[in-house]
Amino acid sequence: MTRIDDLPVRSELRGQTPYGAPALEAPISLNVNENPYPLPEPLVRAMAERVREVAGGLNRYPDRDARELRAGLAGYVTRATGHPVGARQVWAANGSNEVLQQLFQAFGGPDRRALGFEPSYTMHALIARNSGTTWVPCMRDERFDIDLRAARDILAEQRPHLVLITSPNNPTGAAIPAEAVLELYDAAQRARPCMVVVDEAYGEFSDRPSLVPLVEGRPHLVVTRTMSKAFGAAGLRVGYLVADPGVVDAVQLVRLPYHLSTVTQALAMVALEHSDTLLGYVERLRYERRRIVVELREIGYDVDESDASFVQFGPFDDTRRAWQALLDHGVLIRDNGVPRRLRASVGTPAENDAFLRAARAVRHEARPAGTSR
Ligand SMILES: *Cc1c(COP(=O)(O)O)cnc(C)c1O
Repeated sequence: MTRIDDLPVRSELRGQTPYGAPALEAPISLNVNENPYPLPEPLVRAMAERVREVAGGLNRYPDRDARELRAGLAGYVTRATGHPVGARQVWAANGSNEVLQQLFQAFGGPDRRALGFEPSYTMHALIARNSGTTWVPCMRDERFDIDLRAARDILAEQRPHLVLITSPNNPTGAAIPAEAVLELYDAAQRARPCMVVVDEAYGEFSDRPSLVPLVEGRPHLVVTRTMSKAFGAAGLRVGYLVADPGVVDAVQLVRLPYHLSTVTQALAMVALEHSDTLLGYVERLRYERRRIVVELREIGYDVDESDASFVQFGPFDDTRRAWQALLDHGVLIRDNGVPRRLRASVGTPAENDAFLRAARAVRHEARPAGTSR
């Protein structure tokens, strides 16, 4: 068989492996931040009905501009944030990853730099690579907060064309105050006209308000969001951005024609019509997140603040071994490569109980009886 490296593949791709969590079967999977609740039956029925309605029209291409869906998303964001957003300020694609890719295609590229605050969502650096954009990491402090002094210096020195801010941050958990985002935005603009992208994939899980209102009067600010996490519809593949209408015009230059299928657009509309039911799960997950944080701390772990649907905890002398030990107890979580830490998604109460039992057992195996923390 021909190996990738035997092919005339781009040099950046040599020796690389595809992104993704190890695809393992485990009794309890808390590794990819999915919403653990299946879609409720009335929504499933409404979706089946809607597919039946649109299926006859699948001989035609979908609405290239996804106008109805963008209006639906604008309505949802307006209700969720209390800030009026119009369809012209919204763009949708197959997951927020595709939205991010389009932003890199429009604003990044060869001879351009994108800066992100690590550790964070590793897809940002990979999309940079795939679009030929140079990736500039700026390390967070020991509590995984953005060090604003260091950030100002590196922005002035590197003069990036794109800045990525994940809030709440994945995998570390905490959201960033609006004032800090505004400071970073201003510092980036002082260096050069620069697009600042706030990745708000976990926005609905946070106590902090969405940063969507900040796009008003800031044509270089973009907020990306998704239906994969809070909406519990990761399989649907719908993400979107909110920004100045000019940004929407710019990403339309690089999008593939008819990128969002008729079925995707129709089913996303049905999900939006049921947003109250779907977002009801967010409250349960937030409640469970708080419980997990308290119980992990009782067991003796360090747990990082989380505004998201997962918790990062440690410390582990050997993350790989701890990850395996939890898996041996039937619970699959994620090693994101953050030193001494692992990340667990919040599951159903029963899944969380199993995870906490396993975490307790692993802690005790690692610390033989008689030793204190
Ligand atoms: C999950 C996630 C996304 C993207 O998810 P999509 O399913 O492509 O919408 C984007 N950013 C962060 C930080 C994520 O965790």
